[in-house]
Amino acid sequence: MSDPKRDYDYDLFVIGAGSGGVRAARLAAMDGHRVAVAEEHRVGGTCVIRGCIPKKFMVYASEFSQSFKTARGYGWTVGETTFDWPAFLSAKDIEIARLSGVYVTNLRNAGADLIHSRAELTGAHTVRIVGEDRTVTADKILIATGGWPTLPPDLPGVEHAITSNEAFHLPELPKRVLVVGGGYIAVEFAGIFNGLGVETTLLYRGANILRGFDDDVRAHLAGELERRGITVILGCHHDRLEKTDAGIVSHLTSGHTVESDVVMFATGRAAKTQGLGLEAAGVALTGSGAVVVDEFSRTNIPNIWAVGDVTDRINLTPVAIREAAAFVETAFRDNPQSFDHQDVASAVFSQPPIGSVGLTEAQARHAGGKIDIYRSVFRPMKGTFYGSEERMLMKLVVDQASGRVLGCHVVGQDSPEIIQMAAIAIKLGATKAQWDNTCAVHPTAAEELVTMRTPYMPAGLT
Ligand code: NDP
Repeated sequence: MSDPKRDYDYDLFVIGAGSGGVRAARLAAMDGHRVAVAEEHRVGGTCVIRGCIPKKFMVYASEFSQSFKTARGYGWTVGETTFDWPAFLSAKDIEIARLSGVYVTNLRNAGADLIHSRAELTGAHTVRIVGEDRTVTADKILIATGGWPTLPPDLPGVEHAITSNEAFHLPELPKRVLVVGGGYIAVEFAGIFNGLGVETTLLYRGANILRGFDDDVRAHLAGELERRGITVILGCHHDRLEKTDAGIVSHLTSGHTVESDVVMFATGRAAKTQGLGLEAAGVALTGSGAVVVDEFSRTNIPNIWAVGDVTDRINLTPVAIREAAAFVETAFRDNPQSFDHQDVASAVFSQPPIGSVGLTEAQARHAGGKIDIYRSVFRPMKGTFYGSEERMLMKLVVDQASGRVLGCHVVGQDSPEIIQMAAIAIKLGATKAQWDNTCAVHPTAAEELVTMRTPYMPAGLT
């Protein structure tokens, strides 16, 4: 009797060659399965092509303005400095092309077929390769199409605004920019533009930026952004945008106007599911268009799975990679595995940056148990040397009953590097006593995390 699975063209068809899709395709292909990956844009996805990686290069580039100030404080004579935006962009694009090429090579070396075309489902086992006008069949299908920036659809004049996608390719560096939003992308790009010498305004509709982060972190970062020269406008949003000879005029609900050369909206991203044919296959979506999956990343259609931003769980590259690896274990290795979405650390590459893992103080209080807060705000020694006013924040949220450290939040230089290590202790469930038992590394900023001895008590809380 023939194996019905061999009657399909592929054992696995992956739509989307980003972090999640590529990892799944490679692992399955290396196991000897017949795998195809379709990608309508460049291989690498948001992270490599228009997200984490080029963003971090831009952060590095923009940090030099601060480094020049620091250098002067340490006795260096720094001559006139200028920044060549086109030269940076072309170097950045060369490196992105190299990294995208590495992804392509890795896929090919693993034995996967790479199809440079949009792909859409026409049924639970059939995929139309749009660019080649043909249809293939697959036993299992993985949706890994990621997300895409959204613009407020009904806002008059929004066609004059850009998103982060375009910010990576601006033909020239603007003199003035208005960044809209208070999330990861907004604060990161506000820092990038400001560091590159652009007059930068950050506009956020709520009371403080970075909703969902610890309140001390939010307040601390907002203060640091302003100290570095970013104008932060809170509590209002756009009425309309207008293009004039002088630039783009943003009319705000407060009645004020802001004039800028570029308006960049970073007001969220949506799962990229439109027109994918998911309805044809009967795949259930959330109200906002994300693919609904169970803990194993399986959709309501048993042979169709989804990982990464398209499922709108935790939209981070390493999470997509881990979801993809768990998918391969479950679907191909008879070893059901689900990725644990608890205590995933993340970093915001604002300037200064943030590292965060575990519960915020508000989340821990909401959970009901009694907690202790350990908090330290200080001027790191590198800055005190030349009189910088920049302050660093370190905060631990500790469960009183068990002594477990439930959350760790850091704002300041190197906090993304620090939080990666702190995340291990949080994931292991280490207690505050065990953190304290860990000998400090001196002189560092991170030693503060193992030397805070007295709980901090905000006024009014017992
Ligand atoms: P976020 O969800 O982080 O932030 C969106 C922001 O836009 C929020 O401040 C939100 O306000 C605001 N907003 C939403 N709709 C409107 C509107 N109609 N008008 C005005 N403001 C609005 O999205 P991002 O796009 O910044 O990032 C998307 C995801 O990508 C992140 O959640 C993160 O998972 C990932 N990412 C991770 C990075 C990292 O790891 N360093 C870097 C960049 C992105 P409100 O809070 O009031 O809803």
